[in-house]
Amino acid sequence: MASIRGLVIRSQSGFYSVETEEGVVEARLRGRLKQGRAAGDIVALGDWVWVESAEGGEVMIEEVEPRERALVRIAPRPQGVYEQVIVANLDQAFFVFACSEPAPKFRMLDRLLVAAEQQEIPTGIVVTKIDLIGKREAKKLFGHYEKVGYPLFYTSAEKKQGIRALKEALIDKISVLAGPSGAGKSSLLNLIQPELALRVNEVQQSTGKGRHTTVERKMFPLEEGGYVADTPGLKAFALMDIEAEELDGYFREIAPLVVDCQFRDCTHSGEPGCAVVAAVEAGEVHPERFESYLRLRAQHED
Ligand code: GDP
Ligand code: ZN
Repeated sequence: MASIRGLVIRSQSGFYSVETEEGVVEARLRGRLKQGRAAGDIVALGDWVWVESAEGGEVMIEEVEPRERALVRIAPRPQGVYEQVIVANLDQAFFVFACSEPAPKFRMLDRLLVAAEQQEIPTGIVVTKIDLIGKREAKKLFGHYEKVGYPLFYTSAEKKQGIRALKEALIDKISVLAGPSGAGKSSLLNLIQPELALRVNEVQQSTGKGRHTTVERKMFPLEEGGYVADTPGLKAFALMDIEAEELDGYFREIAPLVVDCQFRDCTHSGEPGCAVVAAVEAGEVHPERFESYLRLRAQHED
């Protein structure tokens, strides 16, 4: 086998399943690639790599292409901070929230959006269970996110509404869907492709708490092209090293206003001449979003 290019679709304990034009091969990482790069995962789910047969029939990963982006978790270790790569080259994340049962937690949604902005991961919002309150009411709850620039998908698994639009958004992309449990993610995935939810959930269970085995990570191919990575859960989007001062930059509608504040280091929490507060009062920034900003700011100040 000459050197061929492939996509890492599964990783566990130093073994990688690499999808190539010649099928899926099981590969290990060439030793020399491991040297001198202990600050983060060298190869991860979603990486494009080059594999080659070595002596003894083993397939080795010889090269890892630079990542366009990655969903990373910063793991502090005694030797220093380690960047654990959850999914490399992630094209998009969808945050899944029900419009009712359970009631949407906008603070959580905003926190997730901030994390995605920080990691420069394109994001969409999937609103589920619109049969419970109707699309019009659902739009009253979530519509302002669309104005800010986030694509919104209004769906009902029950009434099979909005499924096709979501499915189309997934084609030929590497995506992650994350949301609180009970939001209806499995029901959606099942409609998009039967068995998909089942498989994603199996992985979640086998990597659940209390196990000491190395975490298995997988991406599931979609029939029409693209992959859904097994959901890393909400923790993967936990805010990492965000400074209180950077937060306003991660709220899309607040970021462009900051230059108009009277003080360069304005925190938008009561200073005179604050353009952000003025925009909230003028109804240009949604009060719930501003509230999320203030809460996060308080949490990240110390
Ligand atoms: P997950 O935990 O996010 O995977 O959520 P599930 O897909 O398991 O759904 C949680 C609950 O919400 C289940 O009782 C589903 O029957 C219900 N559910 C899911 N989608 C819908 C929907 O579109 N409309 C309504 N009314 N209920 C739904
Ligand atoms: Zn201000």
